[in-house]
Amino acid sequence: MKKCIVIGAGIAGIATSIRLAKKGYAVEVYEANAYPGGKLSAFTSKGYRFDAGPSLFTMPQYVDALFHLCDEDPRAYFNYHKKEIGCEYFWQDGIRLTAYSDQDRFLEEVEQKLNVAPKVVKKYLFRAKEKFDLTVELFLENSLHRWGTFLSMNTIKALAKLPLFELNKSLAKVNTAQLKEPHLVQFYNRFATYNGSSPFQTPGIMTLVQHLESEYGTFVPEGGMEQISQSLYQLAMRQGVKFHFNQHVTEILHTKNRVSSVVVDEQKIPADVIVSNMDVFPTYRKLLPNAKAPEKILAQERSSSAVIFYWGIQKQFPSLDLHNIFFSADYKAEFDAIFNTHSLYDDPTIYVNITAKDVPSDAPRGCENWFVMINTSADHVQDWESDLVSLRERVLDKLEQQLGTSIRSHIVTEEVLTPPLIQAKTQSHLGALYGASSNNQMAAFWRHPNFSREFKNLYFCGGSVHPGGGIPLCLLSAKIVSDQLATHT
Ligand SMILES: Cc1cc2nc3c(=O)[nH]c(=O)nc-3n(C[C@H](O)[C@H](O)[C@H](O)COP(=O)(O)OP(=O)(O)OC[C@H]3O[C@@H](n4cnc5c(N)ncnc54)[C@H](O)[C@@H]3O)c2cc1C
Repeated sequence: MKKCIVIGAGIAGIATSIRLAKKGYAVEVYEANAYPGGKLSAFTSKGYRFDAGPSLFTMPQYVDALFHLCDEDPRAYFNYHKKEIGCEYFWQDGIRLTAYSDQDRFLEEVEQKLNVAPKVVKKYLFRAKEKFDLTVELFLENSLHRWGTFLSMNTIKALAKLPLFELNKSLAKVNTAQLKEPHLVQFYNRFATYNGSSPFQTPGIMTLVQHLESEYGTFVPEGGMEQISQSLYQLAMRQGVKFHFNQHVTEILHTKNRVSSVVVDEQKIPADVIVSNMDVFPTYRKLLPNAKAPEKILAQERSSSAVIFYWGIQKQFPSLDLHNIFFSADYKAEFDAIFNTHSLYDDPTIYVNITAKDVPSDAPRGCENWFVMINTSADHVQDWESDLVSLRERVLDKLEQQLGTSIRSHIVTEEVLTPPLIQAKTQSHLGALYGASSNNQMAAFWRHPNFSREFKNLYFCGGSVHPGGGIPLCLLSAKIVSDQLATHT
């Protein structure tokens, strides 16, 4: 039996371990933390449960697929329900928009609140769907770095329609040209943040990101987001995968063109195949210091990071739902601060996630668990400690003003996550949430492949490599790695 070592038990590492165990490998996962899931974990404080990282669950079919692969019924282990309301949006001029998951209801809402005719939005959504359908196979489901991908009929069809992708215009330009109404443009511009990019730099093809949400919907996992990683971790163990926690891999040993073992606690552990779920940047810099690194790929701009305030609040807010966005008045200036000046913007867009809205037991009776996230630049050695104090005040001022009620005096428990902490907890380079940003036309091609060009038996999965960050894409990266192994070992 061939042995495979996976470095890291993030969602992609766990998914890869399941797929490779199913392929007959003896799989062992070495994880630096004491728990599985990486960014996808949770914690409890004074009776309030908090999802620590991801809060938005889309494309649950990719999780289900892993249970099906193992001939198990996902519903016996992992359940979720669809949300009727995707998100509540608030603007400072008093406009409020509910993003219903039912398309007709949403179009009615947009017509009523923003005076935009349904046919305008329908046309926009149709174009986005067209882009998605044409590119999903090329950009998401296969390796972009193998010639075979480009020889498929679907890829050839997609490439023949290249102008449709609007690669030479920014997402913001495309949205402005097609939608015009400023609130609606900002609403759709926001989807650039789903992969940690700026709508003013990421190309127009990114209109397809919102398609995942508007077409398939958003979901709430029973037991919280953590159940995604926990249920897959249990599934991996049922497939015979062995997990080693509190085990930091410090080096990957290699000969000229093959990797041979990993080093943990100064012990060499041999393997036939190694898959790194560690961010690709430290994989090269720390684990493979003597190997030739793909410098151009590693130099790609990092995606945005975030500051998160986890607040247990002794109060309920009936006007809020699970997902809520309080927009900044000047989105362009906000993204300039994130990607160009690397500073904390004065009037940031604020995302408030409250799982107690759907699962009351996530907070004590009459209370709410707030996950308050502000997009920031990756960590460029800013002075986060002192910046946090004023950021907290600005965020509270804005929320209190927009909700017309006091919040600060009701906060009874508080934790904070910053870009340096994200890096410390998961090894993500500069604390970026999604690996490299997609702030240029060629970004998809500049993500690291799922295999090593130098070492025949070294592979990569997770948010810092192809096809990108976010739970659905991380799960697809595991599938692409596993598909490669079928042909390369
Ligand atoms: C605050 C926040 C909010 C987010 N929101 C969303 C969202 O709403 N929806 C969404 O889909 N995505 C979201 N994301 C992104 C999503 O969390 C990630 O893309 C995804 O979880 C990354 O998974 P991964 O498997 O690549 O790696 P990670 O989760 O980063 O896991 C990597 C694992 O490898 C381990 N490791 C690293 N190096 C070593 C080593 N040398 N030895 C042993 N172990 C090692 C780490 O300890 C870690 O456990 C968010 C991320 C954050 C931080």
